[in-house]
Amino acid sequence: MSPANAKLNAFPVFMRVDGEAVAIVGNGEEALAKARLLAQSSAALRIIADNADAELLAFIATAGAVHVDAAYDAAQIEGAAMVFAASGDEALDRRVAEDARRLGIPVNAVDRPELCDFFTPALVNRAPVAIAIGTEGAGPVLAQLLRVRIDRMLSPSLGRLAALAASFRAAAERLPKGNRRRRFWNDFFAGAPAKAVEAGEFAKAHYAALDLLASGAPAMGHIALVGAGPGAEDLLTLRAHRLLMEADAIVYDALVPEAIVAMGRRDGERLPVGKRKGCHSKSQEEINALLIELGSAGKRVVRLKSGDPLVFGRAGEEMAALREAGIAYEVVPGVTAAFAAAADFELPLTLRGVSSSMVFTTGHDLKGNSLPDWAKLAISGATVAVYMGRSVAAEVAGRLIEAGLSPDTAVAVVENASLGNRRRFHGTLADLPSLEARADLTGPVMTIIGDAVAGANFERSEPLAAHRQEEDAASAAAADGVQQ
Ligand code: SAH
Repeated sequence: MSPANAKLNAFPVFMRVDGEAVAIVGNGEEALAKARLLAQSSAALRIIADNADAELLAFIATAGAVHVDAAYDAAQIEGAAMVFAASGDEALDRRVAEDARRLGIPVNAVDRPELCDFFTPALVNRAPVAIAIGTEGAGPVLAQLLRVRIDRMLSPSLGRLAALAASFRAAAERLPKGNRRRRFWNDFFAGAPAKAVEAGEFAKAHYAALDLLASGAPAMGHIALVGAGPGAEDLLTLRAHRLLMEADAIVYDALVPEAIVAMGRRDGERLPVGKRKGCHSKSQEEINALLIELGSAGKRVVRLKSGDPLVFGRAGEEMAALREAGIAYEVVPGVTAAFAAAADFELPLTLRGVSSSMVFTTGHDLKGNSLPDWAKLAISGATVAVYMGRSVAAEVAGRLIEAGLSPDTAVAVVENASLGNRRRFHGTLADLPSLEARADLTGPVMTIIGDAVAGANFERSEPLAAHRQEEDAASAAAADGVQQ
């Protein structure tokens, strides 16, 4: 652990290079790497290389750099704003560094920290925004890892947003200093202009910013209905991750793992609304009211649902309530449980010549005597994914067999799909009822039925028929976390 008062040995600054000459001495890979880094700026590159290798020559041509095709001489670096000694030859690098220092030009020598006046950072470039990462002695691998991580966190359109912000600077300066101006910028970066840039609607973003300037209206809330995926943290989308980190409040269901909720902004509110063991869950009306309340208070809310928000997630009701209340919202898709379960089983959901359609269903609408509408599809070869199906497994199997589907039709069952503690079972439609009695299945369960299931990999699954325990089916219903 570094002490709390650890000091940086190199202090980061941004150096103005627009149109300035930057000299790079070297004819191989190291020179090319530096040239590529510097080419992300508007500096005028001067590459001093005799016998430049082919790749460097190609770069010089495409980047429009000046090529000094001669052996190194101090006169070549005169007038440069920075010099890079990247020859790979220690004696030459040292000479370049000494010359630069004599001419008063800051110098960097590749892999020779003792010769350097400054170090180059790993760079996340969203021009005009730049994030420079320095790790001093810890090395370039750490810097690159951090670069990738930070890059992922930032919207690809951040640069566009920053450029738009720059164009509004002068106008914003005319707003009264203090609260009013701060609120403009908050709403600019978190509200309608930012959302429009994110959606690629630049003209709309411009007008939204003008509206903000004119109206001084309070920040409008925004709700993102976000799919958290089936459980594994790294199946979260990058967009979901970004929204979580910006959220003022996260409203989440019971099936969303704590680890994903924990990715949210640290000082954001976290509001569980789903059934958890021993806890009261909120009714749908209460959840709708909560979202409207948060939105009306100007909050940026992530409504986090397991899997995909539009699949058995009651998103329809929430969107209707938000529309009615005039609160802006968007939907961010997620990996639905059926896809995660199929992946765990290497199960082709569509299979050429076998199955070319797919049904997402739940066993909980099996009311009355009429066949559910999807039974016909199952008989004509569709692959059927049954959500919340454990407590009604017998009913589902019975109805399908009654409708004419063969009792030998293949069935795959996954508990806790995508998670480390997943369990896989395989069998036939005739075995499916045994699921209801299994009190040992306490996680969410996905059932996939159809001829395409025969194409799955059964090496890591147990036969369903092996277990036939007597258990109260009511406990199964609780474990299903029935939502719809
Ligand atoms: N919106 C979610 C579904 C919510 S309904 C989605 O798109 O996945 C809840 C049901 O989803 C559970 O009863 C179970 O059938 C299924 N489910 C959710 N996560 C699961 C997981 N990790 N493994 C297996 N099934 C899962």
